[in-house]
Amino acid sequence: MQPGHNIESVLYSAGDISERVKELGKLITEAYSGKELILICPLKGSVIFFADLMREIKIPVEIDFMSVSSYNSSTISSGEVKVLKDISTGIAEKHVLIIEDIIDTGLTLKEVRGIIEKRKPASLKICTLLNKPSRRIADIEPDWSGFVIPDKFVVGYGLDYGEKFRNLPYIGVLKTSNT
Ligand code: 5GP
Repeated sequence: MQPGHNIESVLYSAGDISERVKELGKLITEAYSGKELILICPLKGSVIFFADLMREIKIPVEIDFMSVSSYNSSTISSGEVKVLKDISTGIAEKHVLIIEDIIDTGLTLKEVRGIIEKRKPASLKICTLLNKPSRRIADIEPDWSGFVIPDKFVVGYGLDYGEKFRNLPYIGVLKTSNT
């Protein structure tokens, strides 16, 4: 699929993403060898990355989903989240990996991390596909990151703008005329 009139440029093609996802899967497999791992997917933006990455992790895993919503739904995060759907898996004493689509200000993930930490997992780590460190406000860093990106609003491969563009197979920069 070529970038349409809404997309300024393709940042990462489907091939670039798949290559990086394989590398991340290998690193995560090595890191958790011999351990029981639970993968948590914050909905919805992470679903495609989550589905691809879990198949590159070559140890037994359990998966679960969580949905949180910012009170302020603008692209500037408010940092307050409401749990819309919680995980149902018991995680006490287990190794937990949160698989995120993007860390921008980090405010959302910091809240999610706090919620998970209270349940006393054996360990809690974060893997993000995209990292925008220039925008960080919260004190949060991923343990694994697919790509470090500039301060641009990106869509595709799960990421939306107004619930659209999630099904693009690549990650592209949205034209500013759309935002
Ligand atoms: P935070 O600012 O709390 O780190 O990011 C919260 C959420 O904002 C992300 O999970 C993602 O849904 C959304 N977000 C941040 N930057 C982008 C972006 O460049 N594109 C899209 N589509 N969503 C973004």
